[in-house]
Amino acid sequence: MARIVMKFGGTSVADLNRIHNVARHVKREVDAGHEVAVVVSAMSGKTNELVGWVENMPKVAGSNAPFYDAREYDAVVASGEQVTSGLLAIALQSMGINARSWQGWQLPIKTDNAHGAARILDIDGADIIRRMGEGQVAVVAGFQGLGPDNRMATLGRGGSDTSAVAIAAAVKADRCDIYTDVDGVYTTDPRIEPKARRLKKIAFEEMLEMASLGAKVLQVRSVELAMVHKVRTFVRSSFEDPDAPGMGDLLNPPGTLICDEDEIVEQEVVTGIAYAKDEAQISLRRLADRPGVSAAIFGPLAEAHINVDMIVQNISEDGSKTDMTFTVPSGDVNKALKVLSDNKEKIGYDVVQSESGLVKVSVIGIGMRSHAGVAASAFRALAEKGINIKAITTSEIKISILIDGPYAELAVRTLHSAYGLDKS
Ligand code: ADP
Ligand code: ASP
Ligand code: MG
Repeated sequence: MARIVMKFGGTSVADLNRIHNVARHVKREVDAGHEVAVVVSAMSGKTNELVGWVENMPKVAGSNAPFYDAREYDAVVASGEQVTSGLLAIALQSMGINARSWQGWQLPIKTDNAHGAARILDIDGADIIRRMGEGQVAVVAGFQGLGPDNRMATLGRGGSDTSAVAIAAAVKADRCDIYTDVDGVYTTDPRIEPKARRLKKIAFEEMLEMASLGAKVLQVRSVELAMVHKVRTFVRSSFEDPDAPGMGDLLNPPGTLICDEDEIVEQEVVTGIAYAKDEAQISLRRLADRPGVSAAIFGPLAEAHINVDMIVQNISEDGSKTDMTFTVPSGDVNKALKVLSDNKEKIGYDVVQSESGLVKVSVIGIGMRSHAGVAASAFRALAEKGINIKAITTSEIKISILIDGPYAELAVRTLHSAYGLDKS
Protein backbone atom coordinates (compact mmCIF):
# COMPACT_ATOMS: atom_id res chain seq x y z
CA MET A 1 0.00 0.00 0.00
CA ALA A 2 1.23 3.49 -0.86
CA ARG A 3 0.11 7.04 -0.24
CA ILE A 4 -0.49 8.94 -3.48
CA VAL A 5 -1.47 12.55 -4.26
CA MET A 6 -3.08 12.89 -7.71
CA LYS A 7 -3.45 16.33 -9.33
CA PHE A 8 -5.65 16.97 -12.37
CA GLY A 9 -5.23 20.14 -14.45
CA GLY A 10 -7.83 22.24 -16.24
CA THR A 11 -8.14 20.23 -19.45
CA SER A 12 -8.42 17.03 -17.41
CA VAL A 13 -11.57 18.36 -15.67
CA ALA A 14 -12.87 20.46 -18.57
CA ASP A 15 -16.37 18.93 -18.57
CA LEU A 16 -18.48 16.30 -16.80
CA ASN A 17 -17.26 13.42 -18.98
CA ARG A 18 -13.65 14.31 -18.29
CA ILE A 19 -14.40 14.55 -14.56
CA HIS A 20 -15.96 11.10 -14.75
CA ASN A 21 -12.79 9.87 -16.45
CA VAL A 22 -10.66 11.45 -13.72
CA ALA A 23 -12.77 9.64 -11.14
CA ARG A 24 -11.86 6.37 -12.89
CA HIS A 25 -8.17 7.18 -12.52
CA VAL A 26 -8.72 7.80 -8.81
CA LYS A 27 -10.78 4.63 -8.44
CA ARG A 28 -7.97 2.58 -9.99
CA GLU A 29 -5.58 3.69 -7.22
CA VAL A 30 -8.18 3.32 -4.46
CA ASP A 31 -9.08 -0.19 -5.66
CA ALA A 32 -5.39 -1.09 -5.58
CA GLY A 33 -5.50 -0.37 -1.84
CA HIS A 34 -3.62 2.94 -1.85
CA GLU A 35 -4.36 5.97 0.31
CA VAL A 36 -5.29 8.78 -2.04
CA ALA A 37 -5.72 12.56 -1.90
CA VAL A 38 -6.68 14.49 -5.02
CA VAL A 39 -6.06 18.11 -6.06
CA VAL A 40 -8.04 19.69 -8.88
CA SER A 41 -7.76 22.80 -11.06
CA ALA A 42 -10.68 24.77 -12.38
CA MET A 43 -12.21 23.67 -15.71
CA SER A 44 -9.91 24.82 -18.51
CA GLY A 45 -10.57 28.42 -19.53
CA LYS A 46 -12.52 29.10 -16.33
CA THR A 47 -9.75 30.95 -14.48
CA ASN A 48 -9.11 33.13 -17.54
CA GLU A 49 -12.79 33.97 -17.65
CA LEU A 50 -12.86 34.85 -13.94
CA VAL A 51 -9.72 37.01 -14.25
CA GLY A 52 -11.32 38.73 -17.25
CA TRP A 53 -14.42 39.57 -15.22
CA VAL A 54 -12.29 41.12 -12.49
CA GLU A 55 -10.16 43.12 -14.91
CA ASN A 56 -12.99 44.36 -17.10
CA MET A 57 -15.25 45.81 -14.44
CA PRO A 58 -16.18 49.24 -15.88
CA LYS A 59 -14.36 52.08 -14.10
CA VAL A 60 -15.95 55.25 -12.82
CA ALA A 61 -15.40 57.97 -15.43
CA GLY A 62 -12.22 59.94 -14.80
CA SER A 63 -11.05 57.54 -12.09
CA ASN A 64 -7.40 56.58 -12.04
CA ALA A 65 -7.68 54.39 -8.99
CA PRO A 66 -6.17 50.88 -9.04
CA PHE A 67 -8.87 48.90 -10.73
CA TYR A 68 -9.22 46.05 -8.30
CA ASP A 69 -8.51 44.93 -4.78
CA ALA A 70 -6.31 41.81 -4.70
CA ARG A 71 -8.43 40.21 -1.97
CA GLU A 72 -11.54 40.44 -4.10
CA TYR A 73 -9.57 39.17 -7.13
CA ASP A 74 -8.80 36.09 -5.02
CA ALA A 75 -12.41 35.74 -3.87
CA VAL A 76 -13.50 35.62 -7.51
CA VAL A 77 -10.78 33.56 -9.19
CA ALA A 78 -10.62 30.89 -6.46
CA SER A 79 -14.21 29.92 -7.25
CA GLY A 80 -13.31 27.79 -10.29
CA GLU A 81 -11.62 25.14 -8.16
CA GLN A 82 -14.53 25.08 -5.70
CA VAL A 83 -16.79 23.83 -8.50
CA THR A 84 -14.49 21.06 -9.77
CA SER A 85 -13.63 19.76 -6.29
CA GLY A 86 -17.33 19.35 -5.51
CA LEU A 87 -18.08 17.77 -8.88
CA LEU A 88 -15.24 15.26 -8.60
CA ALA A 89 -16.36 14.32 -5.07
CA ILE A 90 -19.85 13.68 -6.49
CA ALA A 91 -18.43 11.57 -9.35
CA LEU A 92 -16.36 9.52 -6.90
CA GLN A 93 -19.30 9.03 -4.53
CA SER A 94 -21.38 7.78 -7.47
CA MET A 95 -18.71 5.07 -7.96
CA GLY A 96 -19.09 4.01 -4.34
CA ILE A 97 -15.93 5.78 -3.14
CA ASN A 98 -15.93 7.64 0.17
CA ALA A 99 -14.91 11.11 -1.00
CA ARG A 100 -15.20 14.64 0.37
CA SER A 101 -14.27 18.03 -1.14
CA TRP A 102 -12.09 20.51 0.74
CA GLN A 103 -11.52 24.18 0.03
CA GLY A 104 -8.16 25.75 0.85
CA TRP A 105 -9.63 27.56 3.87
CA GLN A 106 -11.18 24.40 5.27
CA LEU A 107 -8.03 22.29 5.61
CA PRO A 108 -6.56 24.97 5.99
CA ILE A 109 -3.69 25.54 3.56
CA LYS A 110 -2.07 28.53 5.26
CA THR A 111 -0.44 31.09 2.98
CA ASP A 112 1.27 34.45 3.27
CA ASN A 113 -0.52 37.69 2.52
CA ALA A 114 0.58 38.15 -1.12
CA HIS A 115 -2.90 37.96 -2.61
CA GLY A 116 -2.84 36.75 -6.21
CA ALA A 117 0.64 35.24 -5.84
CA ALA A 118 0.59 33.82 -2.33
CA ARG A 119 3.08 31.27 -1.03
CA ILE A 120 2.06 28.29 1.05
CA LEU A 121 3.45 28.58 4.58
CA ASP A 122 1.99 25.53 6.25
CA ILE A 123 -0.36 22.60 5.78
CA ASP A 124 -1.17 20.40 8.74
CA GLY A 125 -1.23 16.97 7.11
CA ALA A 126 -2.44 15.10 10.21
CA ASP A 127 -6.15 15.51 9.47
CA ILE A 128 -5.82 14.36 5.84
CA ILE A 129 -3.71 11.39 6.98
CA ARG A 130 -6.33 10.44 9.56
CA ARG A 131 -9.10 10.60 6.95
CA MET A 132 -7.00 8.60 4.49
CA GLY A 133 -6.58 5.99 7.19
CA GLU A 134 -10.38 5.85 7.43
CA GLY A 135 -10.58 5.22 3.70
CA GLN A 136 -11.72 8.70 2.70
CA VAL A 137 -10.45 10.43 -0.44
CA ALA A 138 -9.90 14.16 0.12
CA VAL A 139 -10.62 16.14 -3.05
CA VAL A 140 -8.82 19.43 -2.48
CA ALA A 141 -9.45 22.60 -4.45
CA GLY A 142 -6.05 23.59 -5.87
CA PHE A 143 -4.65 27.09 -6.37
CA GLN A 144 -6.05 28.44 -3.09
CA GLY A 145 -5.32 28.79 0.59
CA LEU A 146 -6.11 30.95 3.60
CA GLY A 147 -4.12 34.14 4.20
CA PRO A 148 -3.17 35.56 7.63
CA ASP A 149 -6.00 38.10 7.12
CA ASN A 150 -8.39 35.12 7.23
CA ARG A 151 -9.25 35.58 3.56
CA MET A 152 -8.91 33.35 0.51
CA ALA A 153 -5.54 33.68 -1.19
CA THR A 154 -4.57 32.27 -4.60
CA LEU A 155 -1.14 30.95 -5.48
CA GLY A 156 -0.47 32.49 -8.91
CA ARG A 157 -1.36 31.01 -12.29
CA GLY A 158 -0.69 27.30 -12.53
CA GLY A 159 -0.75 27.16 -8.73
CA SER A 160 -2.64 23.87 -8.42
CA ASP A 161 0.63 22.06 -9.18
CA THR A 162 2.06 23.72 -6.08
CA SER A 163 -0.99 22.82 -3.98
CA ALA A 164 -0.49 19.18 -4.98
CA VAL A 165 3.22 18.98 -4.21
CA ALA A 166 2.75 20.86 -0.93
CA ILE A 167 0.02 18.42 0.15
CA ALA A 168 2.19 15.47 -0.93
CA ALA A 169 5.00 16.84 1.26
CA ALA A 170 2.61 17.46 4.18
CA VAL A 171 1.18 13.92 4.14
CA LYS A 172 4.57 12.36 3.29
CA ALA A 173 3.17 10.82 0.13
CA ASP A 174 5.15 8.17 -1.71
CA ARG A 175 4.29 9.85 -4.99
CA CYS A 176 2.72 12.99 -6.42
CA ASP A 177 1.22 12.45 -9.87
CA ILE A 178 0.55 15.58 -11.94
CA TYR A 179 -1.99 14.52 -14.57
CA THR A 180 -2.25 16.83 -17.56
CA ASP A 181 -2.99 16.89 -21.29
CA VAL A 182 0.47 15.63 -22.31
CA ASP A 183 1.95 12.31 -21.23
CA GLY A 184 5.08 13.76 -19.65
CA VAL A 185 7.73 16.44 -19.85
CA TYR A 186 9.12 16.74 -23.37
CA THR A 187 12.39 18.07 -24.74
CA THR A 188 10.35 21.12 -25.72
CA ASP A 189 6.69 22.10 -25.91
CA PRO A 190 5.22 19.30 -28.08
CA ARG A 191 2.64 21.76 -29.40
CA ILE A 192 5.41 23.76 -31.08
CA GLU A 193 7.72 20.92 -32.08
CA PRO A 194 5.94 17.63 -32.87
CA LYS A 195 9.36 15.95 -33.01
CA ALA A 196 9.89 16.65 -29.30
CA ARG A 197 10.71 13.53 -27.27
CA ARG A 198 9.23 12.57 -23.96
CA LEU A 199 11.83 12.43 -21.19
CA LYS A 200 11.79 9.41 -18.91
CA LYS A 201 13.41 11.50 -16.16
CA ILE A 202 14.43 15.11 -15.70
CA ALA A 203 16.56 16.54 -12.87
CA PHE A 204 14.96 18.98 -10.42
CA GLU A 205 17.38 21.76 -11.41
CA GLU A 206 16.60 21.31 -15.09
CA MET A 207 12.85 21.24 -14.51
CA LEU A 208 13.19 24.36 -12.38
CA GLU A 209 14.92 26.16 -15.26
CA MET A 210 12.45 24.81 -17.85
CA ALA A 211 9.51 26.03 -15.74
CA SER A 212 11.08 29.42 -14.91
CA LEU A 213 11.95 29.98 -18.54
CA GLY A 214 8.44 29.38 -19.85
CA ALA A 215 7.54 25.65 -19.97
CA LYS A 216 4.16 25.87 -18.30
CA VAL A 217 3.79 22.14 -17.69
CA LEU A 218 4.67 22.70 -13.97
CA GLN A 219 4.50 25.86 -11.87
CA VAL A 220 8.01 26.90 -10.77
CA ARG A 221 7.13 26.85 -7.09
CA SER A 222 5.88 23.25 -7.30
CA VAL A 223 9.29 22.14 -8.60
CA GLU A 224 11.06 24.05 -5.80
CA LEU A 225 8.89 22.32 -3.22
CA ALA A 226 9.39 18.89 -4.80
CA MET A 227 13.14 19.47 -4.74
CA VAL A 228 13.31 20.69 -1.15
CA HIS A 229 10.95 18.05 0.26
CA LYS A 230 12.15 15.26 -2.05
CA VAL A 231 8.65 14.56 -3.32
CA ARG A 232 8.67 11.88 -6.03
CA THR A 233 6.76 13.76 -8.70
CA PHE A 234 5.55 12.32 -12.00
CA VAL A 235 4.02 14.24 -14.91
CA ARG A 236 1.59 11.98 -16.77
CA SER A 237 -1.55 12.02 -18.93
CA SER A 238 -5.15 11.88 -17.75
CA PHE A 239 -6.25 11.22 -21.32
CA GLU A 240 -5.11 7.62 -21.43
CA ASP A 241 -7.52 4.81 -20.58
CA PRO A 242 -7.43 4.68 -16.77
CA ASP A 243 -7.38 0.89 -16.90
CA ALA A 244 -4.78 0.42 -19.66
CA PRO A 245 -1.91 -1.92 -18.76
CA GLY A 246 0.79 -0.28 -16.66
CA MET A 247 -1.33 2.71 -15.60
CA GLY A 248 -1.39 1.47 -12.00
CA ASP A 249 2.33 0.60 -11.88
CA LEU A 250 3.51 1.74 -8.46
CA LEU A 251 7.22 2.31 -9.09
CA ASN A 252 7.30 3.10 -12.80
CA PRO A 253 4.04 4.71 -13.87
CA PRO A 254 3.95 6.02 -17.45
CA GLY A 255 5.19 9.61 -17.60
CA THR A 256 8.22 11.66 -16.59
CA LEU A 257 9.83 11.49 -13.16
CA ILE A 258 11.30 14.71 -11.75
CA CYS A 259 14.24 13.53 -9.67
CA ASP A 260 17.78 14.11 -8.36
CA GLU A 261 20.38 14.31 -11.08
CA ASP A 262 22.15 11.27 -9.57
CA GLU A 263 19.18 9.14 -10.62
CA ILE A 264 19.74 9.97 -14.29
CA VAL A 265 22.18 7.54 -15.80
CA GLU A 266 22.65 8.90 -19.29
CA GLN A 267 22.79 12.66 -18.87
CA GLU A 268 22.64 14.56 -22.17
CA VAL A 269 24.46 17.87 -22.56
CA VAL A 270 21.21 19.64 -23.44
CA THR A 271 17.93 18.34 -21.98
CA GLY A 272 15.38 20.78 -23.31
CA ILE A 273 14.40 24.04 -24.97
CA ALA A 274 11.93 26.47 -23.37
CA TYR A 275 10.48 29.74 -24.58
CA ALA A 276 8.71 32.68 -22.98
CA LYS A 277 6.58 35.00 -25.09
CA ASP A 278 5.64 38.59 -24.37
CA GLU A 279 9.00 39.91 -23.28
CA ALA A 280 9.87 43.58 -23.77
CA GLN A 281 13.21 45.33 -24.00
CA ILE A 282 13.92 48.77 -22.54
CA SER A 283 17.10 50.72 -23.34
CA LEU A 284 18.37 53.80 -21.52
CA ARG A 285 20.72 55.78 -23.74
CA ARG A 286 23.68 57.91 -22.70
CA LEU A 287 23.67 57.21 -18.99
CA ALA A 288 26.43 58.51 -16.75
CA ASP A 289 28.94 55.65 -16.31
CA ARG A 290 29.39 56.00 -12.53
CA PRO A 291 28.85 53.95 -9.36
CA GLY A 292 25.23 53.85 -8.23
CA VAL A 293 23.58 54.16 -11.62
CA SER A 294 22.30 50.56 -11.68
CA ALA A 295 20.90 50.99 -8.16
CA ALA A 296 19.17 54.20 -9.29
CA ILE A 297 17.49 52.32 -12.17
CA PHE A 298 16.66 48.93 -10.71
CA GLY A 299 15.83 50.04 -7.15
CA PRO A 300 12.66 51.94 -8.12
CA LEU A 301 11.67 49.21 -10.62
CA ALA A 302 11.93 46.59 -7.87
CA GLU A 303 9.89 48.76 -5.51
CA ALA A 304 7.20 48.89 -8.20
CA HIS A 305 7.28 45.02 -8.26
CA ILE A 306 8.53 44.95 -11.85
CA ASN A 307 10.43 41.79 -12.62
CA VAL A 308 13.59 42.74 -14.53
CA ASP A 309 15.30 39.88 -16.32
CA MET A 310 18.17 40.15 -18.83
CA ILE A 311 20.45 43.14 -18.18
CA VAL A 312 23.12 44.27 -20.63
CA GLN A 313 25.36 47.29 -20.05
CA ASN A 314 27.61 48.52 -22.84
CA ILE A 315 31.17 49.51 -22.07
CA SER A 316 31.43 53.23 -22.67
CA GLU A 317 33.90 54.44 -25.25
CA ASP A 318 35.20 57.41 -23.30
CA GLY A 319 34.47 56.23 -19.75
CA SER A 320 31.73 58.80 -19.22
CA LYS A 321 28.51 57.68 -20.98
CA THR A 322 27.04 54.23 -21.44
CA ASP A 323 23.80 52.45 -22.51
CA MET A 324 21.81 50.03 -20.35
CA THR A 325 19.34 47.52 -21.83
CA PHE A 326 17.10 45.14 -19.88
CA THR A 327 13.94 43.09 -20.32
CA VAL A 328 10.61 43.11 -18.46
CA PRO A 329 7.32 41.28 -19.15
CA SER A 330 5.43 43.11 -21.95
CA GLY A 331 2.53 43.75 -19.58
CA ASP A 332 4.81 45.82 -17.33
CA VAL A 333 6.36 48.08 -19.99
CA ASN A 334 4.15 51.10 -19.41
CA LYS A 335 4.54 50.85 -15.66
CA ALA A 336 8.34 50.57 -16.08
CA LEU A 337 8.50 53.55 -18.44
CA LYS A 338 6.55 55.62 -15.94
CA VAL A 339 8.93 54.64 -13.10
CA LEU A 340 11.93 55.54 -15.29
CA SER A 341 10.50 58.89 -16.30
CA ASP A 342 9.59 59.70 -12.67
CA ASN A 343 13.24 59.02 -11.75
CA LYS A 344 14.84 60.57 -14.85
CA GLU A 345 16.82 63.18 -12.96
CA LYS A 346 18.13 60.81 -10.35
CA ILE A 347 19.17 58.23 -12.95
CA GLY A 348 20.51 60.79 -15.43
CA TYR A 349 19.83 59.30 -18.88
CA ASP A 350 19.27 61.00 -22.19
CA VAL A 351 16.50 58.98 -23.90
CA VAL A 352 14.60 55.77 -23.22
CA GLN A 353 13.53 53.34 -25.96
CA SER A 354 11.31 50.28 -25.68
CA GLU A 355 10.23 47.37 -27.84
CA SER A 356 7.53 44.80 -26.99
CA GLY A 357 6.54 41.45 -28.49
CA LEU A 358 9.93 39.77 -28.04
CA VAL A 359 10.58 36.16 -27.12
CA LYS A 360 13.17 34.56 -24.89
CA VAL A 361 14.31 31.13 -26.06
CA SER A 362 16.40 29.07 -23.63
CA VAL A 363 18.59 26.00 -23.92
CA ILE A 364 18.75 23.98 -20.68
CA GLY A 365 20.93 21.09 -19.54
CA ILE A 366 22.98 20.08 -16.53
CA GLY A 367 25.56 18.60 -18.92
CA MET A 368 26.52 22.15 -19.93
CA ARG A 369 28.50 22.45 -16.71
CA SER A 370 31.15 20.18 -18.11
CA HIS A 371 30.93 20.88 -21.85
CA ALA A 372 32.32 23.84 -23.76
CA GLY A 373 30.88 25.24 -26.97
CA VAL A 374 27.19 24.73 -26.17
CA ALA A 375 26.39 28.43 -26.55
CA ALA A 376 28.39 28.74 -29.76
CA SER A 377 26.29 25.98 -31.37
CA ALA A 378 23.10 27.88 -30.54
CA PHE A 379 24.41 31.13 -32.01
CA ARG A 380 25.59 29.36 -35.18
CA ALA A 381 22.27 27.52 -35.66
CA LEU A 382 20.24 30.73 -35.23
CA ALA A 383 22.56 32.67 -37.56
CA GLU A 384 22.08 30.04 -40.28
CA LYS A 385 18.33 30.72 -40.13
CA GLY A 386 18.88 34.49 -40.24
CA ILE A 387 17.53 34.99 -36.69
CA ASN A 388 18.97 38.09 -35.04
CA ILE A 389 19.97 37.90 -31.37
CA LYS A 390 19.06 40.93 -29.26
CA ALA A 391 20.42 39.88 -25.88
CA ILE A 392 22.00 36.84 -24.24
CA THR A 393 22.25 35.66 -20.65
CA THR A 394 23.82 32.47 -19.38
CA SER A 395 24.08 30.50 -16.17
CA GLU A 396 25.82 27.22 -15.39
CA ILE A 397 23.01 25.15 -16.88
CA LYS A 398 21.18 27.45 -19.31
CA ILE A 399 21.58 29.90 -22.16
CA SER A 400 18.77 32.40 -22.81
CA ILE A 401 18.52 34.31 -26.07
CA LEU A 402 16.20 37.22 -26.78
CA ILE A 403 14.81 37.40 -30.33
CA ASP A 404 11.97 39.01 -32.30
CA GLY A 405 8.54 37.47 -31.58
CA PRO A 406 7.74 36.17 -35.08
CA TYR A 407 10.84 33.93 -35.01
CA ALA A 408 9.86 32.12 -31.80
CA GLU A 409 8.72 28.82 -33.29
CA LEU A 410 11.49 28.68 -35.86
CA ALA A 411 14.08 29.35 -33.15
CA VAL A 412 12.67 26.63 -30.87
CA ARG A 413 12.70 24.07 -33.69
CA THR A 414 16.15 25.14 -34.88
CA LEU A 415 17.72 24.81 -31.43
CA HIS A 416 15.84 21.58 -30.76
CA SER A 417 17.36 19.98 -33.84
CA ALA A 418 20.78 21.66 -33.39
CA TYR A 419 21.24 19.71 -30.14
CA GLY A 420 19.92 16.46 -31.60
CA LEU A 421 16.79 16.43 -29.43
CA ASP A 422 14.44 15.37 -32.26
CA LYS A 423 12.71 12.04 -32.12
CA SER A 424 14.94 9.40 -33.63
P1 ADP B 1 -2.77 21.75 -16.80
O1 ADP B 1 -4.01 22.49 -17.17
O2 ADP B 1 -2.95 20.29 -16.75
O3 ADP B 1 -2.10 22.31 -15.58
P2 ADP B 1 -0.92 23.21 -18.49
O4 ADP B 1 -1.55 23.77 -19.70
O5 ADP B 1 -0.66 24.12 -17.35
O6 ADP B 1 -1.77 21.95 -18.03
O7 ADP B 1 0.46 22.51 -18.88
C1 ADP B 1 0.50 21.53 -19.89
C2 ADP B 1 1.00 22.15 -21.19
O8 ADP B 1 2.37 22.55 -21.03
C3 ADP B 1 1.04 21.21 -22.36
O9 ADP B 1 -0.20 21.16 -23.03
C4 ADP B 1 2.15 21.78 -23.24
O10 ADP B 1 1.66 22.52 -24.34
C5 ADP B 1 2.89 22.75 -22.32
N1 ADP B 1 4.33 22.53 -22.30
C6 ADP B 1 5.27 23.50 -22.47
N2 ADP B 1 6.49 22.99 -22.45
C7 ADP B 1 6.37 21.65 -22.26
C8 ADP B 1 7.30 20.57 -22.16
N3 ADP B 1 8.61 20.78 -22.22
N4 ADP B 1 6.81 19.33 -21.96
C9 ADP B 1 5.49 19.11 -21.87
N5 ADP B 1 4.55 20.10 -21.97
C10 ADP B 1 4.98 21.35 -22.17
N1 ASP C 1 -6.86 27.32 -12.36
C1 ASP C 1 -5.61 28.00 -12.07
C2 ASP C 1 -5.00 28.59 -13.33
O1 ASP C 1 -5.56 28.43 -14.40
C3 ASP C 1 -4.63 27.12 -11.34
C4 ASP C 1 -4.18 25.91 -12.11
O2 ASP C 1 -4.82 25.47 -13.07
O3 ASP C 1 -3.15 25.34 -11.75
O4 ASP C 1 -3.99 29.23 -13.28
MG1 MG D 1 -0.89 24.01 -15.27
